[in-house]
Amino acid sequence: FQPWNDPAAKPLVEFRGVTRRFGAVTAVGDLSLSLYPREFFALLGPSGCGKTTLMRMLAGFERPDAGEILLDGVDITAVPPHLRPVNMMFQSYALFPHLNVADNVAYGLKREGLPRVEIARRVEEMLALVKLEGLGRRRPDQLSGGQRQRVALARALAKKPKLLLLDEPMAALDRKLREATQFELMDLQSELGMTFMVVTHDQDEAMTMADRMAVMDHGKLVQIGPPDVIYEAPANRHVAEFVGDINLFEGRVAAIEGDLVKVETSFAGTIELDEEAPALGVGEPVLVGLRPEKIDLGHDEPIGVANKVAGEIWDIGYLGDFTMIQVMIGGEDGQLLKVALANRTRRIARPFAWEDKVWLSWDIEAGLVLRP
Ligand code: ATP
Repeated sequence: FQPWNDPAAKPLVEFRGVTRRFGAVTAVGDLSLSLYPREFFALLGPSGCGKTTLMRMLAGFERPDAGEILLDGVDITAVPPHLRPVNMMFQSYALFPHLNVADNVAYGLKREGLPRVEIARRVEEMLALVKLEGLGRRRPDQLSGGQRQRVALARALAKKPKLLLLDEPMAALDRKLREATQFELMDLQSELGMTFMVVTHDQDEAMTMADRMAVMDHGKLVQIGPPDVIYEAPANRHVAEFVGDINLFEGRVAAIEGDLVKVETSFAGTIELDEEAPALGVGEPVLVGLRPEKIDLGHDEPIGVANKVAGEIWDIGYLGDFTMIQVMIGGEDGQLLKVALANRTRRIARPFAWEDKVWLSWDIEAGLVLRP
């Protein structure tokens, strides 16, 4: 399932050069993006980067100052929200407190003027879909947070929109419930064959659910791609730092030998990296990015490795699935690195302690070159 790689695939949604300003603030600037049928798309980025504005324009609650929005090839820029086959589920859920669950779910269908029998049937179907059978007569204040979230979802799905927009759909749920709900949402989306666009602050959530995700910054899309590509090959420093943890080394390109790039750094010596067709010049200032889980840690100096540096342990944080260790390299005023060690057995062992002198090493395929 990779329609974005298929030149013949027709997008469901196209943003073409869309801009939205609020006074002096350009919330979204000349942005182009295509979403494909059945795609689960996640929008990620720091607070205020324009995620909600982009989504509200697609729902029709916000008019672009410039550009067009197409749905199935038809320009919908001027179409009012209720005439778009698009629905939006809000972070607050926006349930009607005085209506019971069934009436909340039925609300949009009644406005559409569907026959009563059909509405009742659809409400039952939706409540079954989100596993709330039998709770139709409860009021929202008689439900748990997770159940309220499902009612909002059922209501948003009731009109069977082609496209469902979800703004922070799990913000009100605790962690366990969030994780369970993520998988349910993915199942639901593939079962219904709909396109989902979700805005979230939670990058783990985005990576778990999305076929593709986009990282935004200051009203622009910085990178679009499948989660593993965004994580392993971030386009720039903003993406690398926004998605996951990363160590960054400042340096200069010292040599390029085919695919092998050597970068001279202040605190980690010469770092060797495997960069396919590096578009770099010798002497160019670059950053080397290195994810914490790609570093090996040991007490003895490793032999026959491309990259190694000595350091001292400053901090150890046990996190259950892995342990995050902070190591200072280059002395007191050097650079603090994060190393993530997976806890692969049940043994309670403490191979490393505070102030231990250690060696860090990593493969030539572990690091990546970023422009500063
Ligand atoms: P968050 O993650 O905090 O929800 P966001 O990425 O969704 O942020 P937006 O809500 O789209 O960001 O806001 C983008 C920018 O536009 C911000 O600078 C915001 O202050 C501004 N903005 C959004 N809506 C309005 C409005 N109605 N009036 C004035 N400025 C607005």
